[in-house]
Amino acid sequence: MRHMFVVIDTSRTMEDQDLKPNRLTSTLKLMEYFVDEYFDQNPISQIGIITTRNKRAEKLTDLAGNPKKHISAFKKAVDTPCAGEPSLYNSLNLAMQTLKYVSFSPVLPILVLTLKGLKIRVSVIGLSAEVHVCTILTRETGGTYHVILDESHFRELLTFHVKPPPASSSSECSLIRMGFPQHTIASVSDQDSKPSFSMSHLDSNGGPGLTLGGYYCPQCRAKYTELPVECKVCGLTLVSAPHLARSFHHLFPMDAFQEMPLEDVQGERFCQACQGELKDKSVYACPVCSSTFCVECDLFIHDTLHCCPCCIHNQTAP
Ligand SMILES: [Zn+2]
Ligand SMILES: [Zn+2]
Ligand SMILES: [Zn+2]
Repeated sequence: MRHMFVVIDTSRTMEDQDLKPNRLTSTLKLMEYFVDEYFDQNPISQIGIITTRNKRAEKLTDLAGNPKKHISAFKKAVDTPCAGEPSLYNSLNLAMQTLKYVSFSPVLPILVLTLKGLKIRVSVIGLSAEVHVCTILTRETGGTYHVILDESHFRELLTFHVKPPPASSSSECSLIRMGFPQHTIASVSDQDSKPSFSMSHLDSNGGPGLTLGGYYCPQCRAKYTELPVECKVCGLTLVSAPHLARSFHHLFPMDAFQEMPLEDVQGERFCQACQGELKDKSVYACPVCSSTFCVECDLFIHDTLHCCPCCIHNQTAP
């Protein structure tokens, strides 16, 4: 599960018009795109938004797993006046307090050390010239620092942060209780045969109203229309198996196949996946089972399948 805070500068300089129509509007629009992509790739993760101006930091949205809430907050934030100067320090403190319930750190160098100790990564996307303190901050915490060239580059840099970084072997393991509710349709039981409200209806922006069937929390039977969600009644994280699988392969990516010249292939020169004849100069071999693949299949295996078909076959063959 990934927890991420995005700090958006809403100080006076965000009114600059080097991005059209201005920096703030452009940034918020790209953030809508980012949040959508983030939840697509990290379905059981959470994100929170912090804005900073007048040397203060303020939460625009709390850590939450529902993209709609964040997106409607961005739409409202477009009209907030940009004012004063940003405070990187207060923003980081606010994020850190929420992420790890840590008390206030007195000075910046200690703050950086604390972030490092808690394994909180800080990455920065700058809209204008490089700032020294950001260089130190990102380097010390293992994050990245980029300065945008134009709007399409900005989008590219944001996309880079959509994919979670691989889990480091030193990171602590913690068990999280999860529920896997099945979608129940009407007529399965008496309770489901009458329309009822889902718990998502309690949100300020409302849910879909009365519906038949839905996902029922296996612990407390509260009803939801969408997954993933944190049960509002008992706090259990409710997900579907595909959600979990999608998050899992990002954390433990497959090893890259080894490129080797075609001449080195022993025996028949056929791709083990598509069965096409290997004609290109190089082929790609699985480091585990040494099956060879063509370049198209290599890409498909790493981008879509996330497992070697020959290894799976060997595991399941009698
Ligand atoms: Zn529950
Ligand atoms: Zn192939
Ligand atoms: Zn293999």
